[in-house]
Amino acid sequence: MNQSSSVRNKAPKRSSSKRDTLAQAFIPEAGKADVHIHTTASDGGATAQEVLDYAERHTDLDVIAITDHDTIDGAQEAARLHQEGNYRFDLIVGEEVTSTAGHILALFITKEIPKELPPHETVQLIHAQGGLAIAAHPMLILRYIDPDMLTANGVGADVLMAERFDGVEIINGGPTLGKENARARLLNRSILFRAETGSSDAHIVEAIGKGYTLFPGKTAAEFREALERKTTEAVSTRYKFREVIKYGRFFLKMKARETGKRLLGSRRVKPRHRP
Ligand SMILES: [Zn+2]
Ligand SMILES: [Zn+2]
Repeated sequence: MNQSSSVRNKAPKRSSSKRDTLAQAFIPEAGKADVHIHTTASDGGATAQEVLDYAERHTDLDVIAITDHDTIDGAQEAARLHQEGNYRFDLIVGEEVTSTAGHILALFITKEIPKELPPHETVQLIHAQGGLAIAAHPMLILRYIDPDMLTANGVGADVLMAERFDGVEIINGGPTLGKENARARLLNRSILFRAETGSSDAHIVEAIGKGYTLFPGKTAAEFREALERKTTEAVSTRYKFREVIKYGRFFLKMKARETGKRLLGSRRVKPRHRP
């Protein structure tokens, strides 16, 4: 993170949608954060450098977080590049941790959180190092999960209610998650009342910012404060047709690569696509 040296004098390059205007009417100085982005350190298609450059040139995001599956290598590489560069946005080091119940975003961490622990322990470990725990796509329950994979699901309603999550991702920018997002929003607004986040879960650069969180302020520290005060607002953004096609091709290519590896008899370690 490089808050003090961040330069913020460039005009936003992405035009505002109708939804932006409505939401931002209530918080005119709201910042935009996308805190769920993957790189090639796990199953993303872009390197940390490519993610930083895309966010700089093609979005008006104020804060981004790199959250690779079960590793902070990509986020730490991004932090190093961010420190050396002169980016106008803040960067948060994060991880999408695979707990035994489902995926949990760890934000503001410095050490990797081990995978395959019960969600209670995962959340405890995140808090122990001063991080925040966000339930990623919490109501995503896939019908089929690869037998090699522990889970690609969200943690589900029971775990959401039982554990001390600092936020709930009520908008996950995956192009097919409409119903799951609606369920997460309903659960949060009727029972949980946790801070709400919107994120892209981007695996290709064009998806960055397709789902973001509005918050009072512009910096990562202000984003954190907004989560703690529950003053965030999740916003979804539509994909262009050509972006959906590119995303579809990316997943098909990844699937073909995995199938090829399996046919050759090589055991998977990682990466592979998970939401
Ligand atoms: Zn993800
Ligand atoms: Zn996930």
